[in-house]
Amino acid sequence: MKRVYNFSAGPAVLPEEVLKEAADEMLDYKGSGMSVMEMSHRSKVYDNIIKEAEADLRELMNIPDNYKVLFLQGGASQFFAEVPMNMMKNKKAGYIITGQWAKKAFQEAKIYGEAVELASSADKTFSYIPDCSDLPITDDMDYVYICENNTIYGTKFKSLPDTKGKDLVADVSSCFLSEPVDVSKYAVIYGGVQKNVGPAGCVIAIIRDDLITDDVLPQTPTMLKWKTQADADSLYNTPPCYTIYICGKVFKWLKKMGGLEAMKALNEKKAKILYDYLDQSKLFKGTVEKESRSLMNVPFVTGNEELDAKFVKEAKEAGFENLKGHRTVGGMRASIYNAMPVEGVQALVDFMKKFEEENA
Ligand SMILES: *Cc1c(COP(=O)(O)O)cnc(C)c1O
Repeated sequence: MKRVYNFSAGPAVLPEEVLKEAADEMLDYKGSGMSVMEMSHRSKVYDNIIKEAEADLRELMNIPDNYKVLFLQGGASQFFAEVPMNMMKNKKAGYIITGQWAKKAFQEAKIYGEAVELASSADKTFSYIPDCSDLPITDDMDYVYICENNTIYGTKFKSLPDTKGKDLVADVSSCFLSEPVDVSKYAVIYGGVQKNVGPAGCVIAIIRDDLITDDVLPQTPTMLKWKTQADADSLYNTPPCYTIYICGKVFKWLKKMGGLEAMKALNEKKAKILYDYLDQSKLFKGTVEKESRSLMNVPFVTGNEELDAKFVKEAKEAGFENLKGHRTVGGMRASIYNAMPVEGVQALVDFMKKFEEENA
């Protein structure tokens, strides 16, 4: 068996320990005589799995009691619609446009009401986070929306925008559990788990409980009403059982690793290895303004498309997978999520050095 260093932006690398445990439990989960894939979501055994996953997540993120945790389907993309459906009482909201995912959420919100662009970094290909200290937020806005870590462009909000008292909604798909957060500063935190948490198929949403009501936009489907899922503890219908089970294992792994403070230190260490090299390289350069750099997604280019392609090809041959940049940006991107070991990043930098020498 040979495992590669997988720099995919998502679905992405998972902790090897978690995969091994899942393999051990594949045929017989804890004496149940069946795989977690095969059991009823109404069984006692599964109830323990989902309850424990939620409890561990609450502990990791220090989630206050007045927030609900929901395990949902439809991906982050479906949640783009769920936000206005459940929150647009005045049919007006503000969006900060820092990349494609924020833009897609913005466009989705326009189906349901007035979505206002509060700030944007489109003028410089989303290579920075705009100043959010004095946004044109009006009193009639239901919420302010951000994509906290921009997976494609490699930027991250280093401080939250001043929402002037309005509820903050954040898509954290690609920075979920990468560092501690103060949940109480948000109304809604959500993310698809396939970037930094688990296999594809589940969105975790952490929602302040006063936002979970019957007062949703007319014609909101039953399934997309947060109250439906909250009242049923995410078991209104069949949840993505196996994905939640793996997420639960990742939560336990994170606790064992020392929790989110320890993950932050580790993620900073990994990102520093890569950014320090990029900052002094004569061949490669990072594409993001320094103050806005993501710890998770690191885009870089040589400035020459042919050389970029050569690098991606040779890197793949050397066991570094999925380094090709997003199709809309080009160049390269290394996603260095929680489960990417320090050695993986160091090995990548060593390979880049070698490539630089050979192609000087
Ligand atoms: C990947 C991604 C999405 C889309 O996720 P899906 O689950 O595929 O819908 C949305 N937002 C961010 C920040 C992402 O990285």
